Amino acid sequence: MNIMGIEGTAHTASVGIVSEQCDILANVSDTISPESEGIHPRIAANHHAEKFPELIENAIKNSSLKLSDIDLIAFSMGPGLGPCLRTTATAARTIAIFRDKPIVGVNHCVAHLEIGRKVCKVDDPILLYVSGGNTQLITYSENRYRILGETLDIGIGNFLDKLGRLLNLKFPAGPKIEKLAAKGKNLLDAPYTVKGMDVAFSGLLTYLQHELNNGASIHDVCYTAQEISFSMLTEITERALTFTKKKDLLIGGGVARNKRIINMLEKMVNIHDGRLYVPPDELCSDNGAMIAWTGYLVYSSSGPDDVNNITVDQKYRTDMVNVTWRNSITDH
Ligand code: AMP
Ligand code: MG
Repeated sequence: MNIMGIEGTAHTASVGIVSEQCDILANVSDTISPESEGIHPRIAANHHAEKFPELIENAIKNSSLKLSDIDLIAFSMGPGLGPCLRTTATAARTIAIFRDKPIVGVNHCVAHLEIGRKVCKVDDPILLYVSGGNTQLITYSENRYRILGETLDIGIGNFLDKLGRLLNLKFPAGPKIEKLAAKGKNLLDAPYTVKGMDVAFSGLLTYLQHELNNGASIHDVCYTAQEISFSMLTEITERALTFTKKKDLLIGGGVARNKRIINMLEKMVNIHDGRLYVPPDELCSDNGAMIAWTGYLVYSSSGPDDVNNITVDQKYRTDMVNVTWRNSITDH
């Protein structure tokens, strides 16, 4: 069976093709990169509408398959930006209807988790999901992914991108901040906001903006942004590991590409004789292959969705998904 996954929840339009063994046959993406502002949902949706036809064509070409060899269409049905989700669903439904293929809608956050479990060969980890719009600490129990902790305001990537805009850095600012932070020397006396198992970043952002206006060094501001926000996440992750007694930690989402957060988490899990699993960069960012793989898991355990009734859900939370593919006969 070959599965095509179509991703388009926010800034990235992507099409991936995987086999039912999760061989990644194609994974092509195009990300919108606004000059100075944030991501405008309608502009991003137009970007996706324009790019999907050539991405689908390129994915097919790279996989050396024909469109008729695709057996299932999967797409990201949420969470995400409304116009982007509707455009993505339209692309997926169009192929499914015209080619008479089954279709499944997939939760984007769960897809990050499932591709990580599969490629890192880790069965039951805690997942720290750190992306642009989402920041969640997730564990599995009784057919649900449970959220142990999350951001109370903005996602960690969003925090870095907002800071980037103050520094005139183009989206995505995370990698540029990582480079600038490497030259920082002084940790500023910034607010550290952990509330129980949850975190918040907007106070830290306001503080850093204030320091920049008062002439603080850009390097120290980036260094402080990373040290404080990543420490907050490391603290709640450590608590989750000790509370659940799980040893394995999986990281996912675009911010998982950052070497400093990896380094901090690695040190922490080592203290607990645990292990950190980091998927390859292209699978940490939003991508179609993770949607295709998760689509296969959903389809093989609970069948297709109804192409005429499947809708999108901007607020489709990780813990709303009925996880039918784990702890069943075919536990992947
Ligand atoms: P996602 O939403 O999962 O595709 O991830 C995109 C987010 O990851 C954006 O907010 C980026 O700024 C962020 N990002 C990508 N690479 C890095 C990095 N090396 N360090 C920090 N953040 C990053
Ligand atoms: Mg994502």
